[in-house]
Amino acid sequence: MLKIKNLHASIEDKEILKGINLEVKPGEVHAIMGPNGSGKSTLANVIAGREEYEMTDGEILLNDKDLTDLDPEERAHEGVFLSFQYPVEIPGVSVTNFMKTAINETRKAQGKEEMPAKDMLKLIREKSELLEIDRKFLSRSLNEGFSGGEKKRNEIFQMAMLEPKLSILDETDSGLDIDALRIVANGVNKLRSKDNATIVITHYQRLLDYIVPDFVHVLYQGRIVKSGGKELAHELEERGYDWIKEEAAV
Ligand code: ADP
Ligand code: MG
Ligand code: MG
Repeated sequence: MLKIKNLHASIEDKEILKGINLEVKPGEVHAIMGPNGSGKSTLANVIAGREEYEMTDGEILLNDKDLTDLDPEERAHEGVFLSFQYPVEIPGVSVTNFMKTAINETRKAQGKEEMPAKDMLKLIREKSELLEIDRKFLSRSLNEGFSGGEKKRNEIFQMAMLEPKLSILDETDSGLDIDALRIVANGVNKLRSKDNATIVITHYQRLLDYIVPDFVHVLYQGRIVKSGGKELAHELEERGYDWIKEEAAV
């Protein structure tokens, strides 16, 4: 599904990612952990193709297609989903209407016709039932006055509706209470299938009590310095990151 080879990336001429290699297969959930400032969000943004980040070397392939020259929108159309850290408020546009537009724009870019209204309603019903999202929420104005948990619910709903091949969830350390964590975790667990893959980025092990990853990678100073199974997350919870830093320094 995703193959990253020798990825180097810079922000404002400062090298942040220094040779990342990562392979994610269909059906897998990978967790990326690491101390603050290690480059986790940079990696997410580079995969999504955000402009501020300059890829200086390496390759990013999605199902063998090179993403390098595609802009974020084109990558989204290829099936890459990145959760929004700071989503925009759009007063007067409901959660559902925003999704309808997003889906039809994606279909248009893929050369498909608009989704018939009946199918759209069915899709909305299916996904909102799966995620236990109530109707009242679906008619709310996008992100207007949303709590942390509601923002997460909206993101997971977007992910469910767009049915991406690769989802990247960058869970920043601040402001995620247990409810919000559960919403994210339940969503990821329910949307997991043999045809999609998920990368969950987190500073804390706590989220991984709810989402059980197949692989855990530790990013430090722009490199993956350690990879393992879910037990690595528990080890990090117990021992912190100092031993990782010491090992990396050798
Ligand atoms: P993490 O998500 O692991 O905390 P980031 O990817 O946010 O790490 O940051 C990695 C490094 O890149 C840090 O040293 C940070 O200061 C720097 N950095 C991130 N974003 C920017 C930016 N927009 N401009 C300049 N430096 C940045
Ligand atoms: Mg950070
Ligand atoms: Mg970050």
